[in-house]
Amino acid sequence: MRDLIIDLDAIVDNFENFKKRAGGAKILAVVKANAYGHGLYEVALKLETAKVDYFGVADVDEALHLREGGIETPLLAWLHDPNDRFTEALDANVDLGVANIEQLERIADAARITGKVAKLHLKVDTGLSRNGSSIEEWPTLVAATVDLVGQGLVETVGVFSHLSSTSEADDRAQIAAFDAAVEQARALGLEFELRHLTASDGTLSYPEANYEMVRIGVGLYGLSPFADHHSAEYALRPAMTAKALVTQVKRVQAGAGISYGYLARTNTETTLALVPVGYAEGLPRNASGKAEVSINGKRYKIESRIAMDQFVIDVGDDEVVAGDEVVIFGDPAAGVPSADDLAAAADTINYEIVTRMGGRFRVTYLGAID
Ligand SMILES: *Cc1c(COP(=O)(O)O)cnc(C)c1O
Repeated sequence: MRDLIIDLDAIVDNFENFKKRAGGAKILAVVKANAYGHGLYEVALKLETAKVDYFGVADVDEALHLREGGIETPLLAWLHDPNDRFTEALDANVDLGVANIEQLERIADAARITGKVAKLHLKVDTGLSRNGSSIEEWPTLVAATVDLVGQGLVETVGVFSHLSSTSEADDRAQIAAFDAAVEQARALGLEFELRHLTASDGTLSYPEANYEMVRIGVGLYGLSPFADHHSAEYALRPAMTAKALVTQVKRVQAGAGISYGYLARTNTETTLALVPVGYAEGLPRNASGKAEVSINGKRYKIESRIAMDQFVIDVGDDEVVAGDEVVIFGDPAAGVPSADDLAAAADTINYEIVTRMGGRFRVTYLGAID
């Protein structure tokens, strides 16, 4: 009754699209947060078959799930808490991002315990003020890493940072700070096979900053990383479609209040269609009165309050019957509302829309590898 359709072939097309844009740089496919709501394992298996170079996730737990599922592609996890399972990560051949000395020391301990050489990607904070070593602590982190490389406990595969996407000037300042940090590390004796800085937006905006690898998340799922540019401008194909079947249709008189709080009332006799999707599925309640859906090729606004399980559409005198398909969002090339449209209605970004979809949706994969 509620369907989330994930087109894995679209994700492969988007991967090939970014591969061309990246020139010779490797592609790290970001599959954190259940592959932005698209299915961690299904997406990873499909991209592994398409020969992606690397996977990236936030947490070690996500990385271990991928390894347990049989994914063998190089894999990087970068957001750790003080209790993270680094020994298991090393046993599973997971590369680790390193943001500070404490993490480095715990990883070195895990290398001693497991007898595995830890593969590190040092993370330097070039201005976002989130995860990563501050510029002030950077020389200390580098020197401690040089020491552990000498002991044969770790190797430095990569060095990375993340842009704030505030303005071109701010991003360029971060690119310069990144180059300076890499130079400083080299002067102190560290070499890196893979420098990686840009995500989807930076890869589209600053191809000269691709270095040896780019980290692509939202673009793989066919969405634009920019609120003011649509996916079609980059030939990206949105991979997720959310739809449901009308469960009930009824005629009501003028003056009927609709759904909680009567945000909408009927002006004339009209037909109301009930759609069984609510905020439990991730449909934002604050899109009430703003979001549109498509029924039989026509757009209708959700005028009334979105509830936990359902919302109501006033279809006027249109011929809508129980069982008709309602598209909540999908590929706008098919004439349906996009994730961007729903994001605008909910005062958020397309990233949040796809990532939050779940609840009782039945998930179907097109192009799945079995
Ligand atoms: C999530 C994330 C990305 C991917 O960003 P997109 O904008 O989705 O391409 C890249 N790098 C890091 C460090 C991230 O956390």
